Amino acid sequence: MQAKLDIIQQQIDTLPGVGPAYAKRLHRLGIRTVGDLLRYAPRRYDDLRETTTLPELLASGSLPAGGSVTLRAPVKSVRLRRLRGRRSIVTAVLGDKAAKAAKAAILEAVWFNQPYLAESLIVGKEYVFVGKLKTGKYGTNLQSPAVERRTLTGEQTHSGRLVPVYPETEGLSSRWLRYKIRPLLSYADRMPETLPDDIRDGADLLPVAEAVRSIHFPEDSDAAKRARYRFDFEQVFYQQLIAQRRRREWQEEARATVIPTDTTALDKFLKALPWKLTTGQRTALDEILSDLGRDRPMLRLLQGDVGSGKTAVAAAAAHQAAAAGLQTAFMVPTEVLARQHAATLRQWFEPLGLEVALLAGGQPAAEQDEARGRIASGAPIVVGTHALIQRDVRWQRLGLAIVDEQHRFGVEQRAKLRAEQFVKSSAGAPHLLSMTATPIPRTLALVAYGDQDLSIIPERPAGRPAVATKVVAPAGRDKAFAAVRDELAKGRQAFVLYPVISDSQLGLKAAEEEFERLAATVFDGYKVALLHGRLPAEDKVRTMDAFSRGELDVLVSTSVVEVGVDVPNATVMVIEEAQRFGLAQLHQLRGRIGRGKHRSYCYLLPGDGASADNERLRAMERTDSGFELAEVDLEIRGPGEVLGTVQSGFAVSIEGLSDPRLLKSARAAARDLLERDPRLKTIPALRDKVLAAARLA
Ligand code: ADP
Ligand code: MG
Repeated sequence: MQAKLDIIQQQIDTLPGVGPAYAKRLHRLGIRTVGDLLRYAPRRYDDLRETTTLPELLASGSLPAGGSVTLRAPVKSVRLRRLRGRRSIVTAVLGDKAAKAAKAAILEAVWFNQPYLAESLIVGKEYVFVGKLKTGKYGTNLQSPAVERRTLTGEQTHSGRLVPVYPETEGLSSRWLRYKIRPLLSYADRMPETLPDDIRDGADLLPVAEAVRSIHFPEDSDAAKRARYRFDFEQVFYQQLIAQRRRREWQEEARATVIPTDTTALDKFLKALPWKLTTGQRTALDEILSDLGRDRPMLRLLQGDVGSGKTAVAAAAAHQAAAAGLQTAFMVPTEVLARQHAATLRQWFEPLGLEVALLAGGQPAAEQDEARGRIASGAPIVVGTHALIQRDVRWQRLGLAIVDEQHRFGVEQRAKLRAEQFVKSSAGAPHLLSMTATPIPRTLALVAYGDQDLSIIPERPAGRPAVATKVVAPAGRDKAFAAVRDELAKGRQAFVLYPVISDSQLGLKAAEEEFERLAATVFDGYKVALLHGRLPAEDKVRTMDAFSRGELDVLVSTSVVEVGVDVPNATVMVIEEAQRFGLAQLHQLRGRIGRGKHRSYCYLLPGDGASADNERLRAMERTDSGFELAEVDLEIRGPGEVLGTVQSGFAVSIEGLSDPRLLKSARAAARDLLERDPRLKTIPALRDKVLAAARLA
């Protein structure tokens, strides 16, 4: 019998001083209700516990121009000047009576268009001013500082404490948010508790009301940390509940065909490979085989650096499926890659009498029809692009679906793979193996891919030397290209990469123009081709095939070659405007060389005016390990950004995502709860939201 909506649930625009304009800005941040506003966490805190006085500030000699100050000072005089058009200036002279003697111990503070300050500042009273010193024509003054009466009780909002600073948003200042949030904290006790008591106690988390109070106006930095920890935990826990619930739902409802390990077939396949699997490959394969032996569909992600040999592991699994009379779909993000994989897999499977079919959107219609016919009549291995999950594809007995470079596919496409399309096959739900070369630290990966098991290939096959990588300053360009020519003279092939196809307003070197120039000058006499995303699909395929066969010497390209391309004879790569690429991407690109037995070289050329001393480029020089680079990336960009490439919608702070203890315990808490209470009956507050979200994807 609630006569009135509880304040916590009230719409944000019912608050005094929140008009439609502010409401709109808040909505953009996802803040709709008072409760949302209370949960809006600051990004950091300014430590304004230490205030200075004018004599202290002035004793340091010169005023720190441009520097921020938290100044405690009495007001000596106030003046209001009205200007044209409702504009105004309030000037206050700060400094006590004693300041008369030391003439310099006064400072002016100036505010624009805040005439009410002339009324509210009382001469003779002491205030705290928080702002920046600016030096102009008329000397140094304090410009538009926040003002606050100094109280004895420590109840200040903007000074004399850890002051919250909220994420920067157009039109919403931290100061405004502090003004709005502070008085609402008295309602914090009415916030509904969203974590079950036992989980909260088990992980030693603050109750929601206390966390809300401390996140905005903490007593000290410890209190702030504990509050942050609680909210981060809650986010990860919630996200894990959804992911794990989704996984359960799928695995409880869907039934897969059991693929028992056929050791004779396995030995036969592995013996036919030109090398022995590495320990990492073997371990990953064993984990996969054990999943295949169950009637719950496998949901596994195989993580391994570029060149770690994921294809062979996947192929061994596919071979097992074939031995059990089931089909395998091998889905890749681009047509070029589909062809490459088809060629590799044919080398392995055809000698064993197994057919490999190819289906890609860019094929002529007749070829596509033929491929679909083969799929329907049971071709054991089918490689393709997302054409494989279109409605017109009928599988005879699909047992295993492999998604390579899974981060390149949208979430929806990945979900589709699990659901409708494949379930139409008579073999029930397929076992699903995703693969990615985006190495992120294990704990983070477990959270990002909460609904999958994780296998990791930690190392690349031994024997291949690391790619020698060098950041080349503009003065060294000619030498770098000369080194490329040396490689070509030895019969090797080269990539020259650009961030953009054609010259934009950005003033960057671009593939099209540079292709013309390079072909006519530096690489005169060599066969040079251009590859980029705007070319017709057939052209791309033709060029890539020719390069793979060694018919081209130099491939001038954009990042379309990023994914999976395997040309062992390509030993040198130049990346122009290297500063424009992200670290993960640079690593992926470099992974296109160093795949054969020859030593390989990568030259990173920052563009004109870009610094050669770029942290990312230096890291590339230093290490060849994707996992190490991922750590560096994590440090430079923060986990939010890094994860953004993997999954969006993470409202977890950087501290939270960097804290393995938090990630682990939140994940475990979600797992335990689902174990005890799979339908989430004990947490009605979360139940509907989690179940709905789990069903969505
Ligand atoms: P990725 O993990 O990037 O997909 P690939 O599967 O393309 O890597 O393998 C990279 C290269 O390493 C290929 O040329 C492949 O033939 C080779 N390779 C794979 N496994 C081994 C191994 N155990 N020993 C030697 N070379 C291997
Ligand atoms: Mg690969």
